[in-house]
Amino acid sequence: MNVREWVRRAAEKIEAEAERLSRLDAAIGDGDHGHNLDRGFAAAVEALPEDVRPGRALILAGRAIVSNTGGVAGPLYGMAWRQAGKALGDAEQVGAAEVGAALRAALQSVQELGEAVEGEKTMVDALAPAVAAYDEALAAGGDLPTCARAAAEAAERGAEATIPMQARKGRASYLGPRSIGHLDPGAVSTALILRALADVASR
Ligand code: ADP
Ligand code: MG
Ligand code: MG
Repeated sequence: MNVREWVRRAAEKIEAEAERLSRLDAAIGDGDHGHNLDRGFAAAVEALPEDVRPGRALILAGRAIVSNTGGVAGPLYGMAWRQAGKALGDAEQVGAAEVGAALRAALQSVQELGEAVEGEKTMVDALAPAVAAYDEALAAGGDLPTCARAAAEAAERGAEATIPMQARKGRASYLGPRSIGHLDPGAVSTALILRALADVASR
């Protein structure tokens, strides 16, 4: 799979949905999530050299995201891409098993840095079920498009499932029970990034 295309496709989706993501964040946060990410992902696309191995591409993308994304999601996503890139190592070709390892590394990074577990109304509520669904499809012998589609679908369901949750981490947690009844913007952006993976994997 072409991971540079994944970064590009993710950036396109984030740009297209930036208004909506910021509107979701306005309801339970400070209204900047979409625009924060749009800036960071655009910088990631700019940072991708033409001729670079997949792992290195993700490390460079992550670094650009860390330096150019405002808000707590910047370091969370930036470190996640970097750790995903490290998991790919020097491989020249990336297939279903390698992408699975990268996604697992991304989840571990988000959870180490943000200390969130499932059910706390964060991006973890999209990423954790996505990784689980990916691994399940992989164990069943699924190819990359199949695994990636399973992950995207699980992430989208996971994002929807944040609506009845009360936020326990991040800015939305300041609202206490008033955070209930809204989508978590970070879970929605995570679902977009995994849908971008499924799009590119299926080409
Ligand atoms: P900020 O709150 O600094 O403005 P953003 O608006 O860019 O940052 O990002 C908010 C999103 O970050 C939330 O919707 C949530 O998904 C995610 N988030 C916040 N805190 C954590 C955490 N500790 N672990 C994982 N994700 C988190
Ligand atoms: Mg915000
Ligand atoms: Mg902010």
